[in-house]
This record gives sequence, C-alpha cells and structure tokens, in this order.
Amino acid sequence: MEILISRTAFPVQALGPGDRAAIWMQGCSIRCPGCVAQDTWGTPGSSRRQVDDVLDWLVSFDEVDGVTISGGEPTDQPEALQALIAGARRTRPTADILVYTGRSASWVLGSGRALVAGADAIITEPFVQAEAGHLPLRGSDNQQLIALTPLGKARYVDAPLPDRRRVQLDVADGEIRMIGIPTPGVLAELGLRAAAAGLTFRGTSWQD
Ligand code: SF4
Repeated sequence: MEILISRTAFPVQALGPGDRAAIWMQGCSIRCPGCVAQDTWGTPGSSRRQVDDVLDWLVSFDEVDGVTISGGEPTDQPEALQALIAGARRTRPTADILVYTGRSASWVLGSGRALVAGADAIITEPFVQAEAGHLPLRGSDNQQLIALTPLGKARYVDAPLPDRRRVQLDVADGEIRMIGIPTPGVLAELGLRAAAAGLTFRGTSWQD
C-alpha cells in the first residue's frame, strides 16, 4: 500500500506521552491559515513510500510508548491511514496511537470513524489562528482531544500531558526541523534570536 510521508522521527516526547514514533503524512487539503506545517501541504512524488516500509521502521526500535500520526492531513489518504493504524496496532500492541486531524470531531466520529479504527485518541478540528493558545498537544483552543479507548483515556485524560513549552529539534538530512506545537510567539522569538546570532532560516513554514 502506497502512502505519502513527509518524515518520521523517534524518539519524540512533544507529541504525546512517553517516547513516541512520530509519522507525518504528506498532503493537506484543509490548509488552515497560520499552519506551522505548510511544508506538508503538497503531494510531491518524492514523498511516496510503502506502508510496510514505515512499519519496518516502527519495529526497528526496542521500545515505543506511543505512535503519533500527524501531517499534513492523515484522512486525505484514507486507505493508507487505515493500513498504517492497523499495522502499528499489530506491530506495537502496547503503544498508544494518537491521530491528528483537521476534520471536525462530528465528522471523524461519524462518517470518518472507520478511518481511525484502532487509534486510542484523536485530536480534531482545524487550526484557528485567532484561537491559538496553550492547551497541551493542541495548537488552538477549538481543537478537541478525544480518547477512544481505555488506553487512550488512561494516557490522555487521566494522566498529565506533555508541557507545550517543550519542543524538540530534529537534525537530519542537512535540515533542522522543529517537533512539537509551539505556543504563540515562540517561533517569531526563535527567528529573532537566530537572526541576532547570524542564523537565517529558509524554507520554514512560519516565514512564508
Ligand atoms: S493545521 Fe493540520 S489540517 Fe490545518 S493546514 Fe496544517 S496540516 Fe492541514
């Protein structure tokens, strides 16, 4: 099964509890103004992978506490998303699976329910710049964190969530990428501090 992937990373602590495998799917038809992942909007051929290859990567680590599937918009690739969740469930049975989507909760829990079957928790709703806030794991206050299973409830409702002030930097293939959901103003401050230190960012979503 083919899947469009932006990138993968492990271990990630900023997108859910524990040490997580993060998978960013490529392509987003929702295109929220102010999105910090605009590099994931398009669907270049270079992002083509096989779901089995991603699952091989997922089983290559000794311990994985959770799997975060983000994007891009995962539901734009419905069959690939279903195959990815099912494969992650099968290969990492003790890991929780968190899926980000810019679709509404009513859509995901209604006609889109099969797309997230096997996931333990979802974060729904598009990013709304005017409602950018400080809720854990969410970029804007309209976004909903919904537990779908007892494991999801234990990890996302009953336990503390990661501090939004924590973001990670991933250096790979000659690029520095931020992992996490920055609170309002953090990216602008990072850009200013980098400029003061003589660093120039290129190709960053927030400066487009
Ligand atoms: S926030 Fe998510 S749904 Fe919205 S444009 Fe960005 S990737 Fe797409």
